[in-house]
Amino acid sequence: MDQTNHDNHITPSRRAFLGTTAAISAGAMISPVATATPWEQLDPIPPKADLATMAPPTNFPRDIPLFKQAFRNWSRGIQIDDLWTCQPTSVEDLITIANWAAENRYRIRPRGYSHNWSPIVVSPESNLGTRVILLDMTEHFKDMTMTQDWPPAVTVGAGASMESLLTYLENEGYGVTSCPAPGDLSVGGVLAIDGHGTGIPAEGETREVGQTYGTMSNRVLSLKCVAWNHKNDRYELMTFDRSHPDTAAMLVALGRTIVVEAELRVEENHNLRCESYVSISAEEMFAPAGASGRTMESFLNSSGRIEAIWFPFTSNPWLKVWTVQPTKPFWAREVSGPFNYPFSDNISEEVSNLIGEIMDGAPGLTPQFGQLMATVTSLGLLFDNAFDLWGPSKNLLLYVKRTTLRVTANGYAVLTRRADAQRVIHEFVNKYNSMLQAYADDGKYPINGPMEIRVTGLDDPAHAELDDACDVPLSAVVPCEDHPDWDCAVWLDLLTVPRTPFSGDFYAELEQWMFENYVGDYASMRVEWSKGWGYTGVGPWTSDQVINKYVPQTLTDGRPAKANWNSSVSLLQDLDPHGIYRNPFLDKLMPS
Ligand SMILES: Cc1cc2nc3c(=O)[nH]c(=O)nc-3n(C[C@H](O)[C@H](O)[C@H](O)COP(=O)(O)OP(=O)(O)OC[C@H]3O[C@@H](n4cnc5c(N)ncnc54)[C@H](O)[C@@H]3O)c2cc1C
Repeated sequence: MDQTNHDNHITPSRRAFLGTTAAISAGAMISPVATATPWEQLDPIPPKADLATMAPPTNFPRDIPLFKQAFRNWSRGIQIDDLWTCQPTSVEDLITIANWAAENRYRIRPRGYSHNWSPIVVSPESNLGTRVILLDMTEHFKDMTMTQDWPPAVTVGAGASMESLLTYLENEGYGVTSCPAPGDLSVGGVLAIDGHGTGIPAEGETREVGQTYGTMSNRVLSLKCVAWNHKNDRYELMTFDRSHPDTAAMLVALGRTIVVEAELRVEENHNLRCESYVSISAEEMFAPAGASGRTMESFLNSSGRIEAIWFPFTSNPWLKVWTVQPTKPFWAREVSGPFNYPFSDNISEEVSNLIGEIMDGAPGLTPQFGQLMATVTSLGLLFDNAFDLWGPSKNLLLYVKRTTLRVTANGYAVLTRRADAQRVIHEFVNKYNSMLQAYADDGKYPINGPMEIRVTGLDDPAHAELDDACDVPLSAVVPCEDHPDWDCAVWLDLLTVPRTPFSGDFYAELEQWMFENYVGDYASMRVEWSKGWGYTGVGPWTSDQVINKYVPQTLTDGRPAKANWNSSVSLLQDLDPHGIYRNPFLDKLMPS
């Protein structure tokens, strides 16, 4: 990894905003351009060599190659034909570009794999004329090495993929309790949005050294970032130690800095077993709290690590249940690599034809589509011999490939006490069912993808195994000091094919209900940064009420003044006074 010795520890000084941000107008949030089909494979986008049509930005450092490249996010809700892009090769490149951007009133956006939904890399209205440069971090900044023996820690470049990190850790004998399901996410991208998997301690399970049941950001021991050094009046490489309170905002920064590398707490690797169930009805699984039977609560108690995937208009969800199993159970199939559900990563012609018909004006086929997906799942589990899998944790924790169905998703985390997790789920499912039926009665089928439910712990800073680790104040699962009894978060997602008619209305109505329902001493709900939230009928990220009220409020209530929404936003501003790490959406979300 490229290293420099610019290791400046940050100073807590606060300077006024210097007012050099580029003038970029905030336009419509929803791009109408996406035309590709949702099952089309997302290949890497080749750089364009042709610079003839538009001159590169003035004074851009000559020795850093700049090219035009299309940008498209995961669902293609944001799709831009050409953006100036570069692939910095060293820390010096990053520092040079940052200071050039400040002097020339440009904005720079670090990016990983763009496997994201929300406009936190670029906003849809950006184009070649916009004063923005994309920094592709995935070509370089990928080194990794173990830097502490016990408790173990790894230092990893922000451009490394999660799959390569977990593979490296496995070879060294280490791993993580949980993580996001895809492998082609960059470490920088995952930390920027508090990437999470699923898992709380099973009944009787005690936390081991290095384990966290929270997000990947809660593993950070230190970050090296390119940030503004007020002493030297320039952007420099600075080290942010987890024990320094000013590091807090950088742990989940939505791309409002460049993370170059991170030191992460990890743990001894374990073998996991993952069993799938398709024979339990939704009625039983999502029953009211306290019900007997095979409820989500019962599986949380026995294994702690669960995910339910439920297609609309079907009776039985697909439930995955992970347990820690040192030796291979007799019936389980040992797996030698990740991504062991090929039926969900490869879309059949039948499935793609049916989606095509639905999107071409036959929404009434949605129930048939849900049933087809449930059948594909059951048969796939059977024919791929995937009902009961066992192996090193990485092989069971990574299970989504880039070839999976390309859908949009909303996403929220509901903080509550473990004893109320089943209630949270039951109420959500009830509301969803009644809305789905009401819309269907009206001939509307806004949701054609599955519901996904996972449960994690919160970002307890003690899990970093440091004396004085700071909180992760912009994490969706940062604990509330006024509710120490809230010890888990239920992550709720609903997926649908992009531009499905009435999906904006459905998501908006459901979101409003959720913000009003998960309140008081019972629960609190926060948005999942990378996904859809802030809905109006027009689509996600358009609700002023959510952007200006609910987001700040839910990261302020119960939080200490020194580590809440306002203090974090002001810290990010202090470390980027020229506003080079912004875009029109971030301007709206985090006004300076
Ligand atoms: C199919 C699919 C499944 C997913 N499953 C999960 C899941 O199970 N759990 C979960 O938590 N999330 C999940 N996600 C969301 C995903 O984790 C986030 O969208 C993540 O940010 C994507 O990483 P990326 O490398 O593609 O980042 P990008 O999309 O390229 O960037 C995302 C943000 O990170 C910032 N960023 C990227 N690199 C850096 C850097 N070096 N320094 C500073 N900022 C940086 C960008 O500026 C941007 O703000 C899923 C996404 C998809 C498409």
